[in-house]
Amino acid sequence: MNSVSTAVEIRGADKVYANGVRALQPIDLAVQRGEVVTLVGPSGCGKSTLLRLIAGLMQPDNGSVSIAKDFAQRSAFVFQHPTLLPWASVAANVRLPLDLAREKRETAAAGKVAHALDLVGLSAFQGAFPRELSGGMQMRASIARALITEPALLLMDEPFGALDEITRNRLDRDVAALAAREGLTVIFVTHSIYEAAFLSSRVMVMTARPGSISAEIAIDAPQPRTNAFRTTDTYVRACARLSDALAAASGEALA
Ligand code: ADP
Repeated sequence: MNSVSTAVEIRGADKVYANGVRALQPIDLAVQRGEVVTLVGPSGCGKSTLLRLIAGLMQPDNGSVSIAKDFAQRSAFVFQHPTLLPWASVAANVRLPLDLAREKRETAAAGKVAHALDLVGLSAFQGAFPRELSGGMQMRASIARALITEPALLLMDEPFGALDEITRNRLDRDVAALAAREGLTVIFVTHSIYEAAFLSSRVMVMTARPGSISAEIAIDAPQPRTNAFRTTDTYVRACARLSDALAAASGEALA
């Protein structure tokens, strides 16, 4: 680790899948504590692969991925789909990581479930079943299930891609508020430059496969951002810069 403020440090990490697909060129990236960093890039450029390397779900072929010591057992992953157990209540779904860790189902667990549901605004739905929830509410439950482990690092793999734009905007705003309030470090994968510009302290733009980071765009505005941020010059300029950088990253692949 270069510095005590670094949460995640990636040095020269690359990945070739067993079928020979080279997903990533060597990547260098340092994420500081409390940052919200997004990865944007064309479909299939290796964003999820990079996130899985950071999560420790896979190892790089070369290079290294280091996580700050006090973050090591404290990362949580939110997937593209809510992946809730259909036969279990919202509360039971959210409690699942504690059950898997064999934590006792006593008051402490009940309190944690209540707190996690409160953080995502689902307190009134703890007894509901996933099919009774909207898509946005299912994602909230999925986020609560990640938060119950009290993570320091939240890894989110395009969590809102399947939602309508209004729901997505609302959840983005809630993630920003949550991250700021809980002091989370967030690494967020998205296709959307608007989502990236809204959420991020820094955006990493990736080229088409094999992915590499072709541009880094800092968005210098206080967190947590609210809807009003979407009409500021900073936001509009960030969207334009991101759009250009993404076009350049995709164009290079076509050349
Ligand atoms: P993104 O998240 O940017 O859409 P991914 O990281 O999912 O990209 O995938 C990068 C490339 O690696 C794609 O070409 C994809 O088909 C391939 N890939 C992803 N997972 C696997 C796997 N388990 N085995 C083989 N190839 C894979």
